[in-house]
Amino acid sequence: MDKIIYLDNAATTKTAPEVVEAMIPYFTEFYGNPSSIYSFSAENKEVIACQREKIANAIHANAEEIYFTAGGSEADNWAIKATVEAYEKKGKHIITTKIEHHAVLHTCEYLEKKGYEVTYLDVDENGIVKLEELKKAIRKDTILISIMFANNEIGSIQPVQEIGKIAHEQGILFHTDAVQAFGHLPIDVEKCHIDMLSASGHKLNGPKGIGFLYIRKGVKIRSFIHGGAQERKRRAGTENVPGIVGFGKAVELAYTSLEERIAKEIELRDYLIEQIEKRIPYCHLNGDRQKRLPNNVNFSFQFVEGESLLIMLDMKGICASSGSACTSGSLDPSHVLLAIGLPHEIAHGSLRLTLSEETTKEELDYVVSSLEEIVIKLRKMSPLYEDFIRKQEKR
Ligand SMILES: *Cc1c(COP(=O)(O)O)cnc(C)c1O
Repeated sequence: MDKIIYLDNAATTKTAPEVVEAMIPYFTEFYGNPSSIYSFSAENKEVIACQREKIANAIHANAEEIYFTAGGSEADNWAIKATVEAYEKKGKHIITTKIEHHAVLHTCEYLEKKGYEVTYLDVDENGIVKLEELKKAIRKDTILISIMFANNEIGSIQPVQEIGKIAHEQGILFHTDAVQAFGHLPIDVEKCHIDMLSASGHKLNGPKGIGFLYIRKGVKIRSFIHGGAQERKRRAGTENVPGIVGFGKAVELAYTSLEERIAKEIELRDYLIEQIEKRIPYCHLNGDRQKRLPNNVNFSFQFVEGESLLIMLDMKGICASSGSACTSGSLDPSHVLLAIGLPHEIAHGSLRLTLSEETTKEELDYVVSSLEEIVIKLRKMSPLYEDFIRKQEKR
């Protein structure tokens, strides 16, 4: 096989050709500044309004509740920093989880240095938040609960509706990082009592560098970027028109065929899980088997180093990840895998494979055979494995 097999769709996705095509005229032809008065720019103002509407519909929100940002990280930063500032008279306590993306975790750590208090909730062994613990963590001075919709490493889907209900009963704002869920799962901000929701274009076959923050009408939130009057004066800066158009197209594509895509991906995902469990001994599936993103597979292989696994898969043309792309380069095991209780040495031998709509069964068969071969090779070099086998034989 000389073409690459791309199984790292949680890190980023291929920009759909329809998306690229939709964007091009907004570089070449309609390059006007949407804020200008002349009619040449009117088209741009209109096309932004149209995408905002489309995106709002996808999550059952209103168009004026969608604020475009430069991606998921910005939306997370904005949601958390600007609300705590607006609500700090009520209190300075935030609740989040130990398995959030760094865009949320590092923002919370920054706020701790500024005098806010943060509770980082534990999750169960499948990576799901325990509602009883959430209830117990709520205090009089809690102003914000920020819990992700679905986890980017192990794919676990949180009980978002129940969390939203608890938050609202207590009069606490609820933000969810839905970057992995948006375009991959149905989302209803009304039903789930969500006050703020972050999403990003490049995780659903849209362009990079564009995202949005949904802010429910009535939520007090400070402007994030001061300057012009764009985004209802809350996020200044000339709009990324091609990015917004591409994002809108990606959302349209994702949500018109959502059900079929979910069904297809779940079938492939479960096939991959079944094959790995059948053919590779001493492995462990991380995350919940059912409450799981349709395209996420995450395994730990005992007696194997994740980094070596990735390099050897790369030599076979397979793109995968261990932990999240942002943590690679560091030797610490993923905070998510530690939070679900994996010991360090097992967390180190982890592999995330995230599928796309274009993934085929043939590709997965090739991946499983390659993986089987590589794991055998790596274990042969492991003194720990040798020891383990010797002990097994003595029994
Ligand atoms: C990718 C990702 C982000 C960051 O989004 P960017 O658009 O890359 O800034 C935030 N949260 C989660 C869960 C993600 O997977």
